[in-house]
Amino acid sequence: MSDDELERFRKAGKIAAKIREESKRLIMVGETLLDIADMVEQSIKDEGAKPAFPVNISINDIAAHYTPEFDSTALMEDGALVKIDLGIEVDGALSDTAYTVDLSGNNEKLVKASEEALENAIGSIKPGIAVGEVGGIIEETINKYGFKPISNLSGHMIKSNELHAGVEIPNIRTRDPYQFKEGDIFAVEPFATTGTGYVEDLEQVEIFSLYAPSNVRMRQSRKIVEHVIKNYGMLPFAERWVRKEFPSKLLVSAALKELLQNQFLRGYPILREVSRGLVSQAEHTILVTKNGCEVLTQ
Ligand code: MN
Ligand code: MN
Repeated sequence: MSDDELERFRKAGKIAAKIREESKRLIMVGETLLDIADMVEQSIKDEGAKPAFPVNISINDIAAHYTPEFDSTALMEDGALVKIDLGIEVDGALSDTAYTVDLSGNNEKLVKASEEALENAIGSIKPGIAVGEVGGIIEETINKYGFKPISNLSGHMIKSNELHAGVEIPNIRTRDPYQFKEGDIFAVEPFATTGTGYVEDLEQVEIFSLYAPSNVRMRQSRKIVEHVIKNYGMLPFAERWVRKEFPSKLLVSAALKELLQNQFLRGYPILREVSRGLVSQAEHTILVTKNGCEVLTQ
């Protein structure tokens, strides 16, 4: 990686850290989820950056991929366990960071479990250690608290313009042999749950990204495709964002449906813990260095 590219990743990490910390004051009972999402995404733009993906506000047994609908009126409810997951793009360089807020005051241990798993994973990452070994450290830390890691969610390698660049860091011990190398960038993201430790797709999809170009029949779909390519490129986007440009709910949802069906787009269904357990998450983006790693989103 060139020095310039590395500087962009550092910048994307710094902005993500700043926005993450500033966003914490928004997570209050009675606030609308839509306002929280809009304010976080606006503050990213105010930094001269772009959201690497729509801000995820995943509550209780929802682990990931929920972002408010265009016309959502949902309020932050008393007692919610809230995961805020956000990403920044700076000229192709990406960062990804998340935290959990416990509005009940009863789930402190569950929040601590994913935070400490993240800390221990980061403490173990250095050139030569295998990703499956780091998964083991995550699993053991979460188990020690009496919870389970979510086994079908994982951390991921990040490259320029590619948030999920192939290699994964599992949340459980595996024999995955990939060894961290100096210069690698990864998102490390343990998920802990009071449930059985597995997420499933819900039907609802609010987040999409371009997948494979193909023929598009509907006129409205073509217009949306042009808008997506121009504004989001390959980065994930929210239906909510598209609705700001194309106000017709019916046309946008029909177009997105067509684009999903012919695999022009991929969708990221909302992920819910199968046994409806509560889920906590903590995430940082790191750079592997000569002897360890540097936390870019600190
Ligand atoms: Mn994330
Ligand atoms: Mn991630």
